[in-house]
Amino acid sequence: MEHIYDMIVIGGGPAGYTAALYGSRAGLDTLVLEKQSAGGQMAITNRVDNYPGFPEGIDGYRLGQSMEQGARRSGAKTEYAEVTAVRLAGAVKEVDTGAGTFRARTVVLATGAEPRELGLPGEGALVGRGLHYCAACDGMFYRGKTVVVVGGGNTAAADALMLSRLAQRVILVHRRDSLRAAKIYHQPLKSAANVELRWNTVLTELVCGDKLTGVGLRNVLTGEESRLACHGVFVSIGRRPATELVRGQLVLDEGGYVMTDESTRTNVPGVFAPGDVRTKALRQIVTAVADGAMAAQGAEEYLAARDGAPSPQAKNLLKDFPLK
Ligand code: NAP
Repeated sequence: MEHIYDMIVIGGGPAGYTAALYGSRAGLDTLVLEKQSAGGQMAITNRVDNYPGFPEGIDGYRLGQSMEQGARRSGAKTEYAEVTAVRLAGAVKEVDTGAGTFRARTVVLATGAEPRELGLPGEGALVGRGLHYCAACDGMFYRGKTVVVVGGGNTAAADALMLSRLAQRVILVHRRDSLRAAKIYHQPLKSAANVELRWNTVLTELVCGDKLTGVGLRNVLTGEESRLACHGVFVSIGRRPATELVRGQLVLDEGGYVMTDESTRTNVPGVFAPGDVRTKALRQIVTAVADGAMAAQGAEEYLAARDGAPSPQAKNLLKDFPLK
């Protein structure tokens, strides 16, 4: 008979490997499916400076490898295979990959979200060398410097305000003549002495030698082109959650993120969505790992309840958050 895991974790980033660590430590037969290498978005971050416990910071790739090793030591297995389809309804969930179909009684969807890119030449090579997608992660490198923030949504507005407390000069570049960001951000941005707003403007070029030294700009109304010297560019134009696999099966918000409760439970019993893939206020490694632990706990409680032996904690959990 084909093997049925207790828990399949899709995605080997911090949320996924924390779910695998907690799940396997709780005795769940756990499989992680990862398409490339451990760490997710974190693995392409040169230095993670805001994860507690590492006073000198830590290389994101190494942190990802360490998370995989910790989960493996506790008994979780990893298969490096890309997931192509999932069937989540029913007591046994099926996950198709290039390496065959895997089955489990619970699924943890930890596929994350990728930042949207500008699509400019040289963008990939400048990541971490003047070009950033996360102001909360990398803003501190620009104390006293000049930075450009691109975008007009809540993230761009919050990033520009946060950077205005560190950088000497912040130029917010937006392609339209008004912000999409919530009203609450408008006045603080307009009254911040070191924030300039460039409306109807797009980036046309990333000027660089070894690292970024400036940007090319174009006013979309007049066509006027200019150059602006700066030390850093923060691309804050939104994220793309990796949820195509579950569209039509899990409830998604208007941005495509999975809607869950705080314990990461989705609308499908036995399916959990921790980390960047779910609707949430702050997408960071620390919030992803916290979610991963919640997902494993939820899976454990779900399995215990289904097996007819709910623990006292499971009874409480199910009373507070009935399974849908
Ligand atoms: P968003 O709301 O989708 O805004 C993206 C912004 O980037 C828009 O202003 C958009 O311009 C612009 N943009 C998109 N593609 C672009 C491109 N190729 N070149 C130039 N500009 C481009 O994304 P977000 O700001 O990351 O917010 C995502 C979600 O998180 C939202 O639901 C938001 O409310 C939420 N969030 C909430 C908070 C908070 O509550 N404090 C903080 C951050 C994020 P257009 O306006 O022209 O479309």
